[in-house]
Amino acid sequence: MADVRRQESETFAFQAEINQLLSLIINTFYSNKEIFIRELISNASDALDKIRYESLTDKSKLDPLPELFIRIVPDKINKTLSIIDSGTGMTKADLVNNLGTIARSGTKEFMEALQAGSDLSMIGQFGVGFYSSFLVAERVIVTTKHTDDDQYIWESQAGGSFIVTRDVTGERLGRGTKVTLFLKEDQLEYLEERRLKDLVRKHSEFISYPIYLWTEKTIEKEISEDEDEETNEEKEGDVEEVDEEEKTDKKKKKIKEVTHEWELINKQKPIWLRKPEEITKEEYASFYKSLTNDWEDPLAWKHFSVEGQLEFKSILFVPRRAPFDLFDTRKKTNNIKLYVRRVFIMDNCEELIPEYLGFVKGVVDSDDLPLNISREMLQQNKILKVIRKNLVKKCIEMFYEIAENKDDYKKFDETFSKNIKLGIHEDSQNRAKLADLLRYYSTKSGDEMTSLKAYVTRMKEGQKYIYYITGESKKAVENSLFLEKLKKKGYEVLFMIDAIDEYVVTQLKEYDGKKLVSATKEGLTIEDESEEEKQKKEEKKKSFENLCKVIKDILGERVEKVVVSDRLADSPCCLVTGEYGWTANMERIMKAQTLRDNTMASYMSSKKTMEINPDDPIMGELRKRAEADKNDKSVRDLVLLLYETALLTSGFSLDDPNTFAARIHRMLKLGLGIEEDESGGDDTEMPPLEEEVNEESKMEEVD
Ligand code: ADP
Repeated sequence: MADVRRQESETFAFQAEINQLLSLIINTFYSNKEIFIRELISNASDALDKIRYESLTDKSKLDPLPELFIRIVPDKINKTLSIIDSGTGMTKADLVNNLGTIARSGTKEFMEALQAGSDLSMIGQFGVGFYSSFLVAERVIVTTKHTDDDQYIWESQAGGSFIVTRDVTGERLGRGTKVTLFLKEDQLEYLEERRLKDLVRKHSEFISYPIYLWTEKTIEKEISEDEDEETNEEKEGDVEEVDEEEKTDKKKKKIKEVTHEWELINKQKPIWLRKPEEITKEEYASFYKSLTNDWEDPLAWKHFSVEGQLEFKSILFVPRRAPFDLFDTRKKTNNIKLYVRRVFIMDNCEELIPEYLGFVKGVVDSDDLPLNISREMLQQNKILKVIRKNLVKKCIEMFYEIAENKDDYKKFDETFSKNIKLGIHEDSQNRAKLADLLRYYSTKSGDEMTSLKAYVTRMKEGQKYIYYITGESKKAVENSLFLEKLKKKGYEVLFMIDAIDEYVVTQLKEYDGKKLVSATKEGLTIEDESEEEKQKKEEKKKSFENLCKVIKDILGERVEKVVVSDRLADSPCCLVTGEYGWTANMERIMKAQTLRDNTMASYMSSKKTMEINPDDPIMGELRKRAEADKNDKSVRDLVLLLYETALLTSGFSLDDPNTFAARIHRMLKLGLGIEEDESGGDDTEMPPLEEEVNEESKMEEVD
């Protein structure tokens, strides 16, 4: 038989990253090794979930082992600890792929997280929990039987490789997996009953399958030598107790008997069935941890039941941190476990909760769905639609509750504001409610962020609109020239500095009946002027009409039009975009998405309007010169320079920085009083400033 085993053994090398991970696990000093048991029990529970789900539509899947269990067997003689489950088991291919040759997406992330100082106990979140076995074991053997394959053994002592063998001689599992850990000499505490019981209670209390511990009991048994005397004894017993004991000693033999039995060690009923008022904070936290593999307490939770036409119970949690793959589109699963009448059905039911709430974790236990529900049925299921609606409602309620505590909400907003914003974009039904959860810095918010609600309470008398500016960062927008007039007038402006904000404002057009108005787009009107002021402004506008025309002629196609501005106070000019086109910020975001199709860009990209500030001395001087001589060369240069500078200050990028620089240098020379001729040959190398006849002829003259 030994020969057969040897023949059928195959050695595999661990995939490189897994190998690195193993050495990290083995060599890192880490005291909290006990978490390995949680990981193995959680794997067992997952495997049981799978087989139970399969059996819902095909009962025969449970043959030949109908019972679903997890068993823990400490063996003091051999110094091994085994965790056995009657789950799906693994085929040979599964063994090779899952336990060593295919890197899971989380392997690298986990190692990076570790190196960045994260705790090893978060291993389960990264999908590599099995390898935590090597925290306590020097050698691990996995025996497994899947219905579609023979029984196989996987064996490794880390060190780069593992061996897979067809198991023809070993004890038959029927179905499922047995993980046997050969404990390191200093880890024998994991053979102690007490320790194991405590650990299961601590880490795996909420596993919904029975967990049995193979316990050893030594009982002292008394065997009497004479039946008759025993009856006499009972009679005499009432008379003298001390005597009785003495007599027993004489007449009875004590022997020690060792017995073994399976002791059920998780007796709790599912926490969501219990009354909320009877559940402690600690219990919620520990349920959350067992559900999610998170090692930190949740930020918030909501335990509720819906009754009436449709009944279900649920507990929802908001984690403190975002998972490492929050917006990973490859990962389609979500975090709500669906149960039907206490039976786990699935944990990746996309119909249960919208994508933007994908960070919420929890359980839903429905009394109304059929047990054998298939994925296809779920898609059209009306009950599920109602559950989903309720879950969204409860999530939003939970977020409102978080908002009652400033510190908690700050944390929530930092971590999940993008999700809320995605919700505003996608969930039209709840848009208004979600809008109240938004927080932004503003011209008046200081270091704290403000809600739209608080903004509205601060609105000035007569202020009709909610003003905002989009941009790359707080720094980039807070001193933006677009805010000059608004600031002077004392209007608060919200800083929308998340790329997704551009999408938010395309959907959220108003709040509390007040239109949201961009400070960088066309049509910004600041309406609180007296008739007299308006009159004055009109006159001023008129007197600059001519200059606007001259500038438009010079700039040509670069701008859509040139108008007198309402928003500038200190800068000579700016470039605004159309109300429905992209802002400069959006153009930047789109350019950053290099793989995008460019056709969109050509018609969405901003049509720019130049706005000039009639109160600015540069504009005054320009007007004078333009009036004196329409073809004044310096006017032309100045206008181009102003345009290019405005591109920069308005948040656009320069298509041709060299020409811009050349123009600046020319101005510098002018300022320094350097005659163009004096600079000799340099001028000939300077790029032509304009493809224009007289410019070119001038260059030719120099040549
Ligand atoms: P995770 O369980 O997070 O996916 P692990 O490293 O713990 O990551 O396990 C890797 C894979 O090995 C699992 O996804 C599963 O396919 C398989 N596996 C581990 N333990 C068992 C088990 N007891 N029964 C069946 N399959 C298992």
